[in-house]
Amino acid sequence: MKSRIKGRHLNGFKDMSLGSGIIEYLNPEFVYFPIQLDGSNFTLLKKVGDDVLEGEPIMIKEGRFQYPICSSVSGTITQVKKMWHSSGKMVEMWEIQNDFKNNLYHNDFKSATNRDSYIESIKQAGIIGLGGAGFPTYVKYLPTDSAKVVIINAAECEPYITCDYLSIIERTSDLIKGLKLIMSINNAPKGVIAIKESKIQAIEALLNAIGDDSSLSVYELKDTYPAGWEKYIVEHITKSTYVSLPREVGAIVNNVQTVLAVYDALSNNLSLTTRVVTITGDGIKEPKNFRVKIGTKVLDLIEKCNGYVDDLEDAYLIAGGPMTGHAILFDDLVITSTVGSIIVKKKNTKVKSLNCIGCGKCAEKCPAFLTPTSIRQAFLSKNVDELRDLRVNKCVQCGLCSYVCPSRVEMTDYMFKAKDMLAKATVLKK
Ligand code: SF4
Ligand code: SF4
Repeated sequence: MKSRIKGRHLNGFKDMSLGSGIIEYLNPEFVYFPIQLDGSNFTLLKKVGDDVLEGEPIMIKEGRFQYPICSSVSGTITQVKKMWHSSGKMVEMWEIQNDFKNNLYHNDFKSATNRDSYIESIKQAGIIGLGGAGFPTYVKYLPTDSAKVVIINAAECEPYITCDYLSIIERTSDLIKGLKLIMSINNAPKGVIAIKESKIQAIEALLNAIGDDSSLSVYELKDTYPAGWEKYIVEHITKSTYVSLPREVGAIVNNVQTVLAVYDALSNNLSLTTRVVTITGDGIKEPKNFRVKIGTKVLDLIEKCNGYVDDLEDAYLIAGGPMTGHAILFDDLVITSTVGSIIVKKKNTKVKSLNCIGCGKCAEKCPAFLTPTSIRQAFLSKNVDELRDLRVNKCVQCGLCSYVCPSRVEMTDYMFKAKDMLAKATVLKK
């Protein structure tokens, strides 16, 4: 199967980090876990000075859908320290000193035998969406009606990032087993892997692993950005449209590494303690991919890449993809479960933002069919009714309007603020 979508082909820069394969870096001296975060509420199960086991729940993320956060090493909680978080904020984190004993917390996820116990195991393993959204995975499996299809979103469409692609190649069989497990939990008759047509080696590996299993297929996406937008993928595969969630049309969508985390929990009793991350960019000497313990310091990984390039003067880091990630000026940063890449980029101080010249490129490329310039005007004049009419809430913050703008107007930033303005006005009205 093939798709056509509105978007743009982006220069990939993916070759930079592809050659490394996935290098294991699983024994950092320290790992860090946020204990406070805007909009999040944690119940701490431990305190400074306590010993912890690898995989042991150390706090509960509260909210409508709570889940545990598990220590990624065995050792001792040594102190509270302020570190940079991938959200672009400096926050208080627990520092856990690794005792290098790898003492594992006892999980018994493998004994799960029915739908409810599978879902409870996935919850207790602390698995959340590793593609960036961080939504608790078990919640997607809660509806009791059968799903029509489980989709693995393997598009990895932002430039530079290669961690999912390499995970597919290195763990094809586990990925397919994970997909089958999720299909069985949700009683779904079909499983589809959505992947860009340019990822030939991964497609070949997937087709080989699928063999003659007629319940599984590969869906090839055009090599454009944002081909990985969930709504595109679901609507093209199911031929149905939805308002809020894919489950409205019977679809469940999981990212590559999330499916592998589900497989690791249900087949190997493992809580979510590791992920694969790409460290890349023109500021890094030898870009690479690593399987790391969640909470590892980015600086440890940059060191493993032989450090920064020699002529690096003014630079910044992007936590996440270059289109949707957060720019951070400091490298005292931590790999959280939702961070798939760290990109170190040289600052281009010569390029300045100019005024909009009305070329229309932002509207032409917007995958949500919005008119960013009108939204910007409505935002600047604080016209909430117009923001609603212009459907700013449909913006997926893909970053394309900023990317294509010849005047380098930070349109995505305006879209974000405009969405926020409309959301706040809507809450006040209720
Ligand atoms: S950030 Fe929003 S407005 Fe801009 S191109 Fe993406 S969806 Fe459209
Ligand atoms: S792409 Fe930039 S210059 Fe062109 S209309 Fe949009 S904001 Fe204006």
